[in-house]
Amino acid sequence: MKYIIYILLSFNLMTFTISAEETRQVDKHEHGVGELNIAVEGSTIEFEFMIPGADIVGFEYVAKSDEDIAKINQALKTFDDYTNIFTLPSNSLCELNGQKVALKEEDEHDDHDEHDEHDDHDEHDEHDDHDEHAEENHNEFYAKYSFECGNINAIKEVNFPYFATFTNSGELEVQFISNMGSTSFEVEGDEPLINTDGKI
Ligand SMILES: [Zn+2]
Repeated sequence: MKYIIYILLSFNLMTFTISAEETRQVDKHEHGVGELNIAVEGSTIEFEFMIPGADIVGFEYVAKSDEDIAKINQALKTFDDYTNIFTLPSNSLCELNGQKVALKEEDEHDDHDEHDEHDDHDEHDEHDDHDEHAEENHNEFYAKYSFECGNINAIKEVNFPYFATFTNSGELEVQFISNMGSTSFEVEGDEPLINTDGKI
């Protein structure tokens, strides 16, 4: 009975997480905590990561130096090969059939558009404000991968080379949902895997 209640509660939480995502602002994240949603439906499994830039490249200001820009580009390239981030058992016969990788930066345009209107004749003030804003800039890496699997029930665990790949990484908070119900995991580098046996 307790188990059933737990599943229902988790499911509500998951629904909330998904709808929150649509209006998510990147400055609401917690440094050291990456988020991962895993959704299983039929023979497809989808992974969606949202990870603070601090956990990936160690900074979240807008990259301007060649060195910082190179770090961002290298990180995006690393995400391009999902096996740097996670791996699925080979007997699950999962094939990647969709992928999106992006750096999501804080949307500051709305604020500044209004600000501009009021401050048309005072460019100096506007500039100060902008600098201040830049100091507390946030961004995050977004990566989504979809797979079609020949034997999805063989996914009894998912491994995360993510922690070894990115040395600044903290934990991953995983929300896992399938038609068996939903559950959550906290994964860290000392035991970089989740056990999904019986959950798919
Ligand atoms: Zn941040």
